[in-house]
Amino acid sequence: MDATKKLPAPPPEYVRLHDLDARLEGMIVIHSTALGPGAGGCRLWTYPSIHEVFVDAVRLAEGMSYKNALAGLPFGGAKAVIRQPDAPFDREALLSAFGEAVERLEGRYVTAEDVGTTIADMDVVARHTRHVVGRDRAAGRAGGDPAPWTALGVFHAMRAGSRAALGSELSGKTVAVQGLGQVGSRLCGLLAEAGADLVVADIDVDRTARIARDYGARIASVEDVALFDADVFAPCALGGVITRRVAATMKARLICGAANNQLAEPAIAGVLRQNGVVYVPDYAANAGGIISASAEYLDEDEEAVALRVGRIGMRVAIILEEALRTKTSPALVADRIAEKIMIGMEPPGGI
Ligand code: NAD
Repeated sequence: MDATKKLPAPPPEYVRLHDLDARLEGMIVIHSTALGPGAGGCRLWTYPSIHEVFVDAVRLAEGMSYKNALAGLPFGGAKAVIRQPDAPFDREALLSAFGEAVERLEGRYVTAEDVGTTIADMDVVARHTRHVVGRDRAAGRAGGDPAPWTALGVFHAMRAGSRAALGSELSGKTVAVQGLGQVGSRLCGLLAEAGADLVVADIDVDRTARIARDYGARIASVEDVALFDADVFAPCALGGVITRRVAATMKARLICGAANNQLAEPAIAGVLRQNGVVYVPDYAANAGGIISASAEYLDEDEEAVALRVGRIGMRVAIILEEALRTKTSPALVADRIAEKIMIGMEPPGGI
């Protein structure tokens, strides 16, 4: 199909959430519905004002469009951000009002849990709308806890990255994992099984000690783990950990992890490339969770999820090869591919 003849996609939609009685204040931003309903989680967090809510929602919704497109999902990108009221507040009333707002969008937005919301919260939302995922799943069906799928996707991505950046498989490679929560701990299990040597760090010292014991890992300090003398650095805690200083001084030659928005600023992708560090774009590596959630909405089974998550490695290999060939950063290559998919120049199934 000639992309220039394609009808333009609907413009972004900005929906103000405002319900005084329920103390609901926030935004739903639907960045793109070019590929299907806008899908992305609902964040419940403290913000100084509605302005910061808006800025965060716009940025996060746009990120979801890119992630969903690149993952080959029939979904656009969207996000809900709710400003957490001062305590005490009636959580059920707040989430019920949010669910009603989602329902009023008639399926243009599909929500899920995100930072600050839980499976139990989504059960409340589901009383008011069917456009919600991330709930307890029925046996054999897709959905439920996304973290195991996210960890598996990151593992596939890291294997592809290891071949491209380090010239061989992960066995015998030293991987420094920052953050040992739902995703990081599972990633450690997969890496140990693959024969990697682990270095781990988490602000939770008990958790760090347990993972170190379970997998025979060395422990690094939270401050130094990004700069540890490892082959691979896996950020699985917070965003923004790859600062200019880290990019210029880190020893690992490959970055691949689960955290969203790992680069403190987009230009750092270029700094990494100049310093010979291969960066696997975060949203290419960590798509396993949204793949699982999407399958729940489409009422698919786990086999479909496994198939899509399995493609993450191949996709990362293509991105890294193209980055090498065109002498650009993998982050830029991933963005360009996602944009081509969104405007119909690449097949909607993704690469
Ligand atoms: P989590 O909350 O279960 O785990 C985060 C871990 O990081 C915790 O153990 C916490 O103690 C630790 N941590 C926090 N600050 C730290 C620091 N400064 N240094 C070291 N450790 C620190 O979260 P998760 O579900 O495992 O997700 C991890 C990251 O991956 C997050 O950035 C999340 O947004 C992203 N992500 C998760 C999923 C998913 O399916 N859960 C999907 C996509 C992206």
